[in-house]
Parts: sequence; structure tokens; C-alpha cells
Amino acid sequence: MIRLQNIEKVYRTDTIETLALNSISLDVAKGEFLSIMGPSGCGKSTLLNIMGLLDAPSKGNIKIAEKSTEKLNDKQLAQFRNKTLGFIFQSYHLINDLQVLDNVELPLLYRDTTAKERRALATEALEKVGLANRIKHFPTQLSGGQRQRVAIARAIVGRPDIILADEPTGNLDSAMGNEIMDILINLNRNDGTTIVMVTHDENMAHKTHRLVRLFDGSQVQ
Ligand code: ADP
Ligand code: ADP
Repeated sequence: MIRLQNIEKVYRTDTIETLALNSISLDVAKGEFLSIMGPSGCGKSTLLNIMGLLDAPSKGNIKIAEKSTEKLNDKQLAQFRNKTLGFIFQSYHLINDLQVLDNVELPLLYRDTTAKERRALATEALEKVGLANRIKHFPTQLSGGQRQRVAIARAIVGRPDIILADEPTGNLDSAMGNEIMDILINLNRNDGTTIVMVTHDENMAHKTHRLVRLFDGSQVQ
């Protein structure tokens, strides 16, 4: 589902060059739940951003869902990303002045859908994460765990093949973190969604199928 070959990422400024990723090759199978661990600054977010086509590598090849994306223009890339990938972040990235339902509908605005279809799909996604009773709340009226569930509903509303999660439980206590993990595990099992998750938490990582460790931009396991 995801194929990275000899990915290198160099960040350049006038004075500094940082080798953030050093020849990473990684295959993620369809239906796999992979976690990525490693110390701060080892390249985890860079790797996830490259997998999510949010950032381009300096060298190497990427295939997502059997497609090479380097020839797509910006608009095609945005469409492909919208259709294929769902993103979840540590700090939720919800829009605070939109109600829960409207936050979840956002990814569908870039697709050919009617308001009625958007509402039905968003309601269904919120039911999946157990938040159907909060659709008219604003994000600031929810707990951290509930906000992250809204963010998951937003990530899955367009039925992506792949979910990329950057420390999804990083801001949550262990009870809420476990709830979020259970939701991700169910999405992976029941819907076959491929998931790549960056985490600092060994307990969360051990619940996934496979763990990749990074150190200084290189894969060590
Ligand atoms: P992690 O997510 O594991 O904490 P990152 O992927 O954020 O690591 O960063 C990897 C390395 O690349 C770090 O050394 C970081 O300082 C550097 N880096 C990240 N983003 C930039 C950037 N935009 N410009 C320059 N260096 C960067
Ligand atoms: P933090 O760990 O500081 O809370 P996040 O987990 O929120 O960071 O974000 C992880 C990475 O994703 C960052 O590199 C950030 O630049 C990027 N990012 C965050 N929000 C978006 C977004 N809406 N679209 C694209 N990239 C984003």
C-alpha cells in the first residue's frame, strides 16, 4: 500500500544542512498497522509527512496505493491525497468555530457531494467513534479524547485506504489514549484501513502489527 525506496530528506538553510532521513526503504502492506518510534528529532514526522505527500523527499521513490505521484500537479496531488489518505495529529487540528458535524464534513467539501450526502457520511463516521450525541458541540466543549475522536471521524469520513497518525495519543492520559487506540485497532480490523502511527508510547506500539525504529534518520529495526 505504501512503498518507500531509498528515501533521503535534506533540510537546507543558508548555513545548515540537516540529513533528516537517510536512505529509508519501507513497505507497508495493505491492511497493516505499523508504528514508528524513535527519539525526538530522529525524523519521524518528516517520514510521515513524506508518506502523506505533504512534503517531497530530496531523493528516492514513493508509491502510495500502487501510484507514483511525482508527475501529478498540485491540484491532482491534493485530490489524490484527499481520496486516499486520512490524517490525525497530536493536537487534533479541529476548527474551533465550527460544530463537530461541520468539522467532520470538511474533507468532503473537496469532492462532488451534496449537503445531504455529506451530513449522512459525517454522521456515520461520528457513530463509528461513539460521538453521535455530540454533533452540535463545538470542539472547545469537548474533552481531549472526544476531540481526538472527532479528528478520527474527519480522517475516515472519505473512506481513505490509509490513515497517517502523528502521536494521536500524545496529549491524552492513558485511559483516553487506550480508547483512541481501540478505535484505531477496530478501523484496521473491521474496515481493513492501513494505518501508520508515530508514537512515543511502547504500550501503544506493541498493540500494532509491526514496529519500525528510527535513529538519526536511519532505520535501526
Ligand atoms: P521527529 O518527528 O522524530 O521529532 P523531525 O522529522 O521533526 O523529527 O525532524 C528530523 C530532523 O530534521 C531534526 O533534526 C530537525 O531538527 C530537522 N528538521 C525538521 N524540519 C526541519 C525544517 N523545516 N528545516 C530544517 N530542519 C528541519
Ligand atoms: P505537534 O506534535 O507539534 O502537536 P502535530 O502532530 O499537530 O504537531 O503535527 C505534526 C506535523 O504535521 C507537523 O510537522 C505539522 O507541520 C504537520 N501538520 C499539522 N497540521 C497540518 C495540516 N493541517 N496539514 C498539513 N500538515 C500539517
